[in-house]
Amino acid sequence: METILPEDNIENIVIIGSGPAGYTAAIYAARANLQPLLVTGFNSGGIPGGQLMTTTFVENYPGFPDGVLGPELMDLMKAQAERWGTNLYESDVVTINTNNYPFEIKTLESVIKSNSIVIATGASANRLGVINEDKFWSKGISACAICDGATPQFRNEELAVIGGGDSACEEAAYLTKYGSKVHLLVRSEKLRASAAMIDRVKANKKIEIHWNTKVTQANGNDWLEKIETINSQKICGEIKVRGLFYAIGHTPNTKFLGDKIELDKKGYIACKSGRPETSIEGIFAAGDVVDSEWRQGVTAAGTGCMAALAAERWLAEKNLSKIIIRETTEPEKTLPSSSFKEEEANEDTFDKNSQWQKGSYALRRLYHESNKPILVIFSSPSCGPCHVLKPQLKRVINDFNGAVQGIEIDIDKDQKIAEQAGINGTPTVQLFKDKLLKKQWQGVKQRSEFKEAIQNII
Ligand code: NAP
Repeated sequence: METILPEDNIENIVIIGSGPAGYTAAIYAARANLQPLLVTGFNSGGIPGGQLMTTTFVENYPGFPDGVLGPELMDLMKAQAERWGTNLYESDVVTINTNNYPFEIKTLESVIKSNSIVIATGASANRLGVINEDKFWSKGISACAICDGATPQFRNEELAVIGGGDSACEEAAYLTKYGSKVHLLVRSEKLRASAAMIDRVKANKKIEIHWNTKVTQANGNDWLEKIETINSQKICGEIKVRGLFYAIGHTPNTKFLGDKIELDKKGYIACKSGRPETSIEGIFAAGDVVDSEWRQGVTAAGTGCMAALAAERWLAEKNLSKIIIRETTEPEKTLPSSSFKEEEANEDTFDKNSQWQKGSYALRRLYHESNKPILVIFSSPSCGPCHVLKPQLKRVINDFNGAVQGIEIDIDKDQKIAEQAGINGTPTVQLFKDKLLKKQWQGVKQRSEFKEAIQNII
């Protein structure tokens, strides 16, 4: 693609956020030939891809009659945005400067200038703050059942979920795959989840609902063993559980805006009902960061579309659009995201020189036979953060041109290996060299962290 105006390093439109609102805005702006730049976010506000990255099947997004995995839906939206010419920038926005024009968007590494902005930073999962929460965080307490449910420590144990919304019900049902029983702790006497979700929970014999119940404290030694509760009659109780999962709602990701843009009382960006314009001309907002009411993937996508169309009109009115000229009218079809092998290696297919293999057989062989650094990612099939991290690790491995090897272990399939490796959540990445564990990471990290650790041992 070519730009017809001289390069002035000023973007037409910067979209902040990579959930359904951000990607939909990007698709529309890209198809308007505005070549948007989308800042994906990385740590603050959760992982790229937004809340759908930490959900299992999305059954109410139109067009998927049999449901679609949340992370898969986000992969598809991302591919569609990129296909039409969206540039992606992996970073967190630290602040925006609205005093200067063009606006300045300060990220962790740079300052981007843009004629318009769409804010689609969504909302983040809340924490409860019970006594000993920090002590047992990732040692029994988690904010993502979908990511961590397959962890060996939770197998055939009693588990608990706090909350009464769709997330809590979905997570309780999901956890019955792994736990012997799931306690759903609801602070009031009703669930606020959708009727279909409530029916599913009530029909599941492995779920016990505790009404009017709050958790006050977590106890145990090295790992969570029990929780203390109190009900509305002030009667205290104790439930023996090895896992406690929070599903207690979200807070909008607006902290980086400071007082630059008008927010409502709850901290959401204030826009006129049904409109994407914010208090600053040229800055638009979409998705859960403006919406404390509907908060659905499809409503976020809808408002993302509105924000992009409004920005496009506004840029045209002000004569600020720099329209790109496409060399071909039809962009190329999307390619599979990876050329790495995705099937599990066995005795016949194992290749000691391969850059990326799957499964415990390959891990055992490389662990004993390879003299190169080995990056092992422990993942589980529905873990959204694993979807984000895997392509990053593959890029790191690619950059080392055969000097590093990667292995993926699905902890659902290879429970024993996960247990031996002491895995207590996904994604976990371990770096080995000469049979020694050199470093371990939990969660999604920047590529530079992995590169630096590998460079230090190579
Ligand atoms: P939510 O609807 O805001 O529900 C939060 C729940 O947590 C409420 O039941 C609330 O209790 C409870 N809660 C809040 N603070 C608490 C505390 N300190 N102690 C105990 N309980 C507390 O959040 P969500 O379930 O994450 O859903 C967010 C949005 O995403 C919703 O629109 C939902 O429909 C959507 N969603 C859809 C799907 C799906 O369709 N597959 C899946 C997940 C989420 P009260 O009810 O008493 O306020």
